[in-house]
Amino acid sequence: MSIVDQKLQLEDYDHSYIWHPFTQMKDYIKEKPLIIEKGKGSYLWDIYGNKYLDGISSLWVTTHGHCRKEIDDAIIKQISKVSHATLLGLSHSPGIELAKKVVEISPKGLTKVFYSENGSSAVEIALKIAFQYWLQHPEGSKGKKQKFISLKNAYHGDTLGAVSVGGIDLFHEIYHPLLFESVQGASPYCYRCEFNEKFPLCNLKCLDSLDQVIRKYHKTTAAMIIEPMVQGAAGILVFPPGFLKGVRQLCTKYNILLIADEIAVGIGRTGKMFACEHEDVSPDIMTIGKGITGGYLPLALTLTRDEIYNAFLGEYEEHKTFFHGHTYTGNPLACAAALANLKIFEKDKTLLKLTEKIDYLKKNLVRFTKLNHVGDVRQLGFMVGIELVADKNSKKPFDPHMKAGIKVIMDARERGLILRPLGDVIVLMPHLSITIEELDELLDKTFDSICHVMHGFDA
Ligand code: PMP
Repeated sequence: MSIVDQKLQLEDYDHSYIWHPFTQMKDYIKEKPLIIEKGKGSYLWDIYGNKYLDGISSLWVTTHGHCRKEIDDAIIKQISKVSHATLLGLSHSPGIELAKKVVEISPKGLTKVFYSENGSSAVEIALKIAFQYWLQHPEGSKGKKQKFISLKNAYHGDTLGAVSVGGIDLFHEIYHPLLFESVQGASPYCYRCEFNEKFPLCNLKCLDSLDQVIRKYHKTTAAMIIEPMVQGAAGILVFPPGFLKGVRQLCTKYNILLIADEIAVGIGRTGKMFACEHEDVSPDIMTIGKGITGGYLPLALTLTRDEIYNAFLGEYEEHKTFFHGHTYTGNPLACAAALANLKIFEKDKTLLKLTEKIDYLKKNLVRFTKLNHVGDVRQLGFMVGIELVADKNSKKPFDPHMKAGIKVIMDARERGLILRPLGDVIVLMPHLSITIEELDELLDKTFDSICHVMHGFDA
């Protein structure tokens, strides 16, 4: 078979055998699939040798670029020792070293690490720990504190516990009969404020309304879960200053646990190692995933405080054990990759260098705000959301059948840029290691694609 035929066959097999996640397959199988073959730094290449700038860090995961030698080497070195060793009753050195390292760099008070291998599992673990903590609480709130509070527009993963605390109707509503009860507070989505207010004149009305919710339910609530500083999957909704700190204060005041889901925002993505640092917040439970291995291998962590961990200690026959553990929990290869990833942060002074690039990004996003169909541009660090609207004055969204977001990212693809939209929000999520020249390419190509597609709509 010729090389060309082999590539065509691969495309055919992709259409025949893979059911792609979050993808309408009826549309997908009409298109030629983009099959990625290799990556280096900020770029990816497809099987035909076409080069693309990776504008979304693969799926918000890559930190120091593709094929970073130190991470490659760390994985290979670990492979030569052992590739799998369970943490169920045994241990291994990359797991131990990584847990120590993560505790050292995490917000104060988080001292214990529970491993898993994807963000949704880390969230399930956080919810189960919070639930069981109150059941085993020394002051005996036995069985009273079982509810969860989350925010509208929240996204915490796709498993049923995570969906129960989700607040994006498009993804979550259909599963409603399968979910446990949770209560929702207002989303701090300033562009579409549900109170029709403007920050800072609003005095954080969304926080006041959350106060009322927590006041009403706190006696029967185990924890509040939140994506600190940015609701990612809902369209990069950046919190107004003071909101996160206010949530921490409410949780303390009403004696409910605060779970900070740092899966998308953690590991440098917002310019700090953890988004909680923006408001000096220390949660009771924190989840980490995505960028922890630099975009190499699946790994997630749930961190918690001594006080919570201690509530699970007891005699064997008391059954206070946390009965949870996945087969690949804390896999040694993934832990080795994560350790190498975190070492590069120190060696390259990644966060220090990021400051200048974040400012550059901010300055150069201004031109987008002037475009006719750009309703809002939101940014925190290296998380950017550009919200496209049918009408800028009324903020009226595009009709879904227009597929505005999808059309823009397909246009960008033609220009050699890979993006993925969230509805009609164009997301930019570059590698933390991206250069200023590459940032220019990202911004220029995105700008051109938005102009081109929107011009087509208006013509
Ligand atoms: N929480 C947040 C905030 C996320 O953004 C995501 C994934 N985008 C998850 C949880 C779930 O992580 P995973 O896809 O690894 O299950």
